Amino acid sequence: MSPGVLRRNRFRSYFLWFHLLPHSDHILFSSNGHAASCALHGRIRHVLQGSRTATSVFQTFPCSLQRKNISSVVLEGEEDPHQSSELPLLNAMRCVCVCVVVLVVLGARVNSFRFNELIDYVNKHQEEYVQTLRDWVSIESDSSDATKRTELQRVMGVVEEKLRGMKGNVDVVDVGTQRLDDGSIIPLPKVVTAEFGDDVNKHTVCVYGHVDIQPARREDGWATDPYNLTEINGNLYGRGASDNKGPVLAWIHAVEAYKALDIELPVNVKFLIEGMEETGSNGLDALVEAQKDKFFSDVDYIIISDCIWKSTRPALTYGTRGNCYFTAQVSTNSLLTFIYYTLISASGQILIPGVADAVTNFTEEERKIYEEVSFDMENYKSNIGVDRLMYDNKVDLLAHLWRFPTVSIHGIEGAFSGPRSKTVIPAKVTGKFSIRQVPNMDPAVVEKQVTDHLHAVFEQRKSPNKLTVSMIIAAKPWLADPKHALYEAGKRAVKRVFHVGPEMIREGGTIPIARTFQDVTNKYIIMLPIGGFDDGLHSQNEKISRYNYIEGTKLFIAYLQEVSLIKDN
Ligand SMILES: [Zn+2]
Repeated sequence: MSPGVLRRNRFRSYFLWFHLLPHSDHILFSSNGHAASCALHGRIRHVLQGSRTATSVFQTFPCSLQRKNISSVVLEGEEDPHQSSELPLLNAMRCVCVCVVVLVVLGARVNSFRFNELIDYVNKHQEEYVQTLRDWVSIESDSSDATKRTELQRVMGVVEEKLRGMKGNVDVVDVGTQRLDDGSIIPLPKVVTAEFGDDVNKHTVCVYGHVDIQPARREDGWATDPYNLTEINGNLYGRGASDNKGPVLAWIHAVEAYKALDIELPVNVKFLIEGMEETGSNGLDALVEAQKDKFFSDVDYIIISDCIWKSTRPALTYGTRGNCYFTAQVSTNSLLTFIYYTLISASGQILIPGVADAVTNFTEEERKIYEEVSFDMENYKSNIGVDRLMYDNKVDLLAHLWRFPTVSIHGIEGAFSGPRSKTVIPAKVTGKFSIRQVPNMDPAVVEKQVTDHLHAVFEQRKSPNKLTVSMIIAAKPWLADPKHALYEAGKRAVKRVFHVGPEMIREGGTIPIARTFQDVTNKYIIMLPIGGFDDGLHSQNEKISRYNYIEGTKLFIAYLQEVSLIKDN
């Protein structure tokens, strides 16, 4: 890849031509038989300098050259009658000059990323950033509550306005309607897309985020008003502060900083911001499918910042588990309880035949990654409110959170659950449980295994009742290569901002859109979180720290630069 080839081609000077070189792996330029050569270690392997004028170089250099080709450019020159009789000594001297120019330009390029200016800008504007987050948090954009739909539409309008104000190429996409349980139909919130830059010689990233939220009521146990962002000890408390309004704003502010300082964006940036994530991203799958050859056609990488660190150290997330969610409907409580006992043993072993067969072996390499994660078992215990964990060491616990399937029992619908002692026997009850999916597990296969197992168990009871098993959610897992260039860029950006390398982590939960992006668009995906491990997503007193919010903005600024340096394969 070579950022700005076309732009630089407008200028016809040696200096700018050589500025191009550091982006290329191997540039060979030769002409008329008495070329001198100078090999530089590092990014430029060879520069063969013949007796060409700068102008003729540019005339030969194809303007339409795509970045995919540029790492092996060979420029074969025409004989230049005015230069062909020059002495070899003169050519050798010219070569020395060229080397000097290249080294100077290489040095200049290293410093050309005006990171400090961008950082200063962020520091100076942090109060403004906090206020914008406060404005966004004040909008009760709860996607699960149909009565809040106008608020949800309003927050999408605020996103649109913000991106338009930054002179982005903004689009508002209608994704249809939603049928509610009572049969009424209401519009889904529109999805906002925006594009900043369309330079074909640059990489293009697409930042995905959402601005809808989980419900929150003061009486659920919030210490502050969930819709009035409140700062206490450096933490900004409010619903959606970390999931996902804060990170979405951090991305917007990162792009805004470049634009405010009139610094060219190192990559083209697209945004895809939705408002139904918390209830299953209704309408988004169809949009991604419809846009795969349009909006996504020139996207190289997709970035998701809808997750959190695992400790106080920054992290890059390279996997999430999928989820198969089941209901089992029977006519008595006791039968359902019996069924529950046949799903998982007391020691956490899944008892459904075949379910764990597809799971890959836990490799030494994985174990090493897990060992490096600074995960506090005691803290985790107190957070989830238990005295004892099923696994007594960090690696096994993380492995069962991240890379092994688990069965979770969620509840019983229809059973008497109120206070006092009613002797009512429900006509039917519905049990709800889910099985987290890991790579190689196929939801269709799992559905059959679970259904067969439950019916076999039910048969043994010789019950006259009826059992109905349904799989109502089937979300596949997502796994990336933590050594991919996109992750290497993330490691460099984290190091630049936080002066420490990131932890490589996975998520035990499910983020279905990651897998959809991967399957439909075929683009490489990274999850780049800025939320803290204790942000309390989906629970009361959700927060993002000012530190994470502001330093996260800097991380995104640095990340755009690092992505621009990724070479195409
Ligand atoms: Zn989220």
